[in-house]
Amino acid sequence: MANDTVVWLEEVGKEDIAIVGGKGASLGEMIHAELPVPRGFAVTAQAFRRFIDENDVGERLFKSLEVDVDNADILREAEKEAKKIIMDAKIPADIEKSIRSKYRELCKREGSEVFVAVRSSATAEDLPDASFAGQQDTFLNIKGETNIIEAVKKCWASLYGARAIYYRVKQGFDHQKVNLCAVVQLMVDAEKAGVMFSSHPSTGEPFTIIEGAWGLGESVVSGSVSPDYYVVDKRNKKITDRKIAIKNIMHIKDPETGKTVELPVPDGKKNAKVLDDDEILKLVEFGDLVEELYGIPQDVEWAIKNKEFFMLQSRPITTIKKKTETKEKIGTSSILDGLGASPGIAYGEAKLVADGSELGKVKDGDILVAVMTTPDMVPAMKRAGAIVTDEGGMTCHAAIVSRELGCPAVVGTRKATSILTDGMKITVDGEKGLVFEGKKEVEGAKATTPEKSMSLSKAKPVTATEVKVNVSIPEATARAVETQADGVGLLRIEHMILGLPKHPKQYIKEGKADEYVNELVSRIQVVVDAFYPKSVWVRTLDAPTDEFRAMEGGEGEPIEPNPMLGFRGIRRDLLDTEHFALEVRAFKEIIKRGYNNMGIMIPLVQHPSELKRAKEFMRSNGLDIDKIEVGIMVEIPAAALIIDQFIAEGLDFVSFGTNDLTQYTLAVDRNNQHVAHLYNELHPAIMKLIEHVIIECNKAGVKTSICGQAGSNPKVAKRLVELGITSISANIDAVENVRDMVARTELQLLLKGARERKG
Ligand code: PEP
Ligand code: MG
Repeated sequence: MANDTVVWLEEVGKEDIAIVGGKGASLGEMIHAELPVPRGFAVTAQAFRRFIDENDVGERLFKSLEVDVDNADILREAEKEAKKIIMDAKIPADIEKSIRSKYRELCKREGSEVFVAVRSSATAEDLPDASFAGQQDTFLNIKGETNIIEAVKKCWASLYGARAIYYRVKQGFDHQKVNLCAVVQLMVDAEKAGVMFSSHPSTGEPFTIIEGAWGLGESVVSGSVSPDYYVVDKRNKKITDRKIAIKNIMHIKDPETGKTVELPVPDGKKNAKVLDDDEILKLVEFGDLVEELYGIPQDVEWAIKNKEFFMLQSRPITTIKKKTETKEKIGTSSILDGLGASPGIAYGEAKLVADGSELGKVKDGDILVAVMTTPDMVPAMKRAGAIVTDEGGMTCHAAIVSRELGCPAVVGTRKATSILTDGMKITVDGEKGLVFEGKKEVEGAKATTPEKSMSLSKAKPVTATEVKVNVSIPEATARAVETQADGVGLLRIEHMILGLPKHPKQYIKEGKADEYVNELVSRIQVVVDAFYPKSVWVRTLDAPTDEFRAMEGGEGEPIEPNPMLGFRGIRRDLLDTEHFALEVRAFKEIIKRGYNNMGIMIPLVQHPSELKRAKEFMRSNGLDIDKIEVGIMVEIPAAALIIDQFIAEGLDFVSFGTNDLTQYTLAVDRNNQHVAHLYNELHPAIMKLIEHVIIECNKAGVKTSICGQAGSNPKVAKRLVELGITSISANIDAVENVRDMVARTELQLLLKGARERKG
């Protein structure tokens, strides 16, 4: 068998990692264990090696990779050159013949020409089980012999993608010794699909957690739809939790083109449960079998078609926290301190990241260390066990995103990048804002939440004051929904835009405004859909020029001495109406798609004329603002002081943006770690402004809310409930505590009232 260049998956097993890589070997093992894995074949690592040797391109290929990988431009050039060498070479005739005949055989077995996925499974000659997960590409929905040959070559070429080259150099792998097996596997046209953790992903306890949605699993994996959520106690096979989500969209394969398309879920299925009890328990059984096979808890991708179950992939869960892990006491004093921006403790290897080209360095559980995080770092932030930055305050990009991801973070340490070095083992306490060398038991800090997307929840108290949640990146939606918040009090669209590959102006310049609007709509829709029918206040653009300038095509952003006092918020939209019009188009499309739970919130207003002009603009661009809630953020003291004039202009709600209200009231730049000690959201001047606004709004019947960081502080929440605020919108990690405090405060007020009436 070892001499064969193309082998059936059922012919391989764990001893064949050197031939078919980790993924191929694991699929083979699962087939032997009679788990329902889609069948297929593997074009082996040896086939790849012969392809290189017989085309005599090795020397040229490996020479082209000898570059300075820290230079992003040079690295991209190397990628181009190496991929061209692969794509121009010809697969040896006998190998091509075997691929074609195996595919024909697969089609014969299935009774028709089939769609397949071509997945990469890399292996190193001297270290066969080294993990190269996620470094190479997968090609879905491929049909026809010639297309498969092409996809195998593309899969091989992906071994020379910039990310993969970078990763190997930094990990000390010799390019010449890494080979790539291409796994060609039947596609499953799933009717329903999702992911399953065979044990609790955080604690390792015997609970199976399953998420599922209609159609292909990619909507669950990518987070574009909020899936149903089921928890099963494995000890007695009892389903202990079941949350049925509203599933408005699904992804399916277009039978003609083979392309994945997004469709609305038929009305009858939107609120219907995806899995019945038998299916849930059957999946649990499969989860147990896979866990038993590998001896450790697994993260499995599953699919169901015509009542048939499929296990598409399985990998070990790496986020389980061993009980003993933080027990070992070492040095008692921290080596760095900063602001505890996102709670939790993590221990791992420091990885210093200078810019986007270095993200491959950060593997699951590593500690990402940077001067400051930027939006293109979000994929690495998702993998990171914790984040430590030199710069920033509690409301900087790193702080906001890490809180949403549930990833512990310490920001504003000033010197993390000079004190920490690559590979150094450190413990991060995101609660207290401390970093220790080595493994450290941290007393009094909350346990970390490494599962990032799932948690077992307790019953929530009902509160008269609504407790909502803030969302900035669509990936955080599932976690936000899990908080059972009463809606979204702030959806920051600039974070969604910062996650796009290029600046909005670049889309406009390339004549792709429609594409841009679609991107915006799909991201907003994820949140509006997940929370439906609860309200979601979408904020119009509040783009700081410094962050937008870093995007492709963002060179035109003005250079400002102080971006915080500059071209952002509604003042920007009122000057750059070309962009404002695109936002309005996106809002209209959301309404057209049937969502009536969206409100519009206008940031950084300082005079009622801005509110007036914004409303007029939206109206004249066809948005029926009488049918939706429109409000302003109170972030500038001027707006608080003349709130009566805003009320007279007409608005449904106000929301305190205390991040800005604090910096503008106290003259403290919120992102400047040198003055962070003066940044105090509880300053009496700020509380006085807030009190004034709540009193005036309550008189006029205008709703009041808070979406700044201060709202996540239970002590502030208590005060605001006493003042009569209508809702509080907190960060994901703070919702539960804030809700408890709101409930308690409301009861205290009731009790006090009752006692006063009695006495
Ligand atoms: C605020 O200023 O409090 C706020 C919520 O807005 P941002 O942090 O996005 O400026
Ligand atoms: Mg603000």
